Amino acid sequence: MLSKTINKSKKLLALFLALVFIAGTFTISAYALTDAEKQEYQKKIEELKAQIEENNKKIAELDEAASQYDDDVSALQDKISVLDDQIDLYNQEIALIDEDINKIDAQIDSVETEINNLNEQIKELDIQLDELEAQKTETYELLGERIRASYMSGASTPLEYLLTSDNFEFQAYLERVELLQRIAEHDDKVVKQLEKNIEDIAVKVTEIEDVKVRLASKITELDEAKKEYEVKKQEQVDARKVVEDAEALIQADLDKVMAIVNGYDRESQQYKDAIDKREDAILELENKLAEKNIYYGSGSTGDMCWPLPYSDVYVSSRFKWRWGKQHNGIDTCRWSGTHGADVVSVKDGTIDVASWGYGGGYGNYVVVNHGEGVVTYYAHLSNITVSPGQRVQKGQVIGQAGNTGYSFGAHLHFGLMINGSWVDPLKYLDGGSTIQCTD
Ligand SMILES: [Zn+2]
Repeated sequence: MLSKTINKSKKLLALFLALVFIAGTFTISAYALTDAEKQEYQKKIEELKAQIEENNKKIAELDEAASQYDDDVSALQDKISVLDDQIDLYNQEIALIDEDINKIDAQIDSVETEINNLNEQIKELDIQLDELEAQKTETYELLGERIRASYMSGASTPLEYLLTSDNFEFQAYLERVELLQRIAEHDDKVVKQLEKNIEDIAVKVTEIEDVKVRLASKITELDEAKKEYEVKKQEQVDARKVVEDAEALIQADLDKVMAIVNGYDRESQQYKDAIDKREDAILELENKLAEKNIYYGSGSTGDMCWPLPYSDVYVSSRFKWRWGKQHNGIDTCRWSGTHGADVVSVKDGTIDVASWGYGGGYGNYVVVNHGEGVVTYYAHLSNITVSPGQRVQKGQVIGQAGNTGYSFGAHLHFGLMINGSWVDPLKYLDGGSTIQCTD
């Protein structure tokens, strides 16, 4: 009971203080840098410039260290290029020898084809020879049969016929002898012709065999020539290998030196990257000092009103790192209770989004596009009273505050995006620079 009373009086005191505070300060409309902030920014810029100077010194040292290897690198590269030229010459020589070897191979192929053709011819002639030999044997056999027939027909000599036969028989005998003689002559002719043919073919075969021998010796010559070229080629390949080995050693040296130089370059690059970041930071600070990034709005009113149109408002969580990430806006509440409180558009604009969403975290939320790169977000609403595409004016109610989505207790999460970046709404909202913050 006692603690409850204390809590209540604490709350009332806070409310009272807030009201006094807000009443006294709500007339300030635009955010401006204080002298202390300007001094702080200036100091940071000086620090960053000093760091950049240090970095530049380091880079110069590293470049100096790397440049000591310049002569080594170019000497090694020169050597390698000379050896590369030598290797090219060997390669050209080897290519020429290969051409010669290919020519010889082609010649060997054509001679081998010739020899194969001759072997075919010899085969055919052998077949012809066999046939002729067979004919000859047959003719001899026929001849033998005829001679045997003439003996077996009776008297075999003319004298016998003269002594034993009559005129008629003798005449017949003479005719038969003549016939036999003619047959024998014919057979003899045939046999002689066959023998001549056989001899002709044998001569042909011999001639072809001679040609074959000549061709075989040609192949032997070509093989020897090829061997000579192959020996020459091997000499070139061996010589090239010597140069290649020498080059590999030099390349290994160059790799070692380059590893050192690249190490310096990498380190130097890290300093250069650091300088870039610091220069960006300086630019940002200078812009801040020139108040370039500070948005004062446009039009006659020139500012944005507070999204909860009440005098008893405060900020429960600022735009800052929270729970390991940037809290991309402010949480704002009413001392007299936030649930169901009206939420208004801070500036004229068009409704872009009016729904449940943003991964569910925002609950019911509204996005208003004010043009000129200015967009505002209103999240955790209990109710939405506008729809996408609708035009709204500054101060127009767009819904009611609530506790939907990822929220613990009713509050309005308000986000302000300028040119695609979240910015601190306290620097832009009417009264933002002086409003009470409880976190
Ligand atoms: Zn929030």
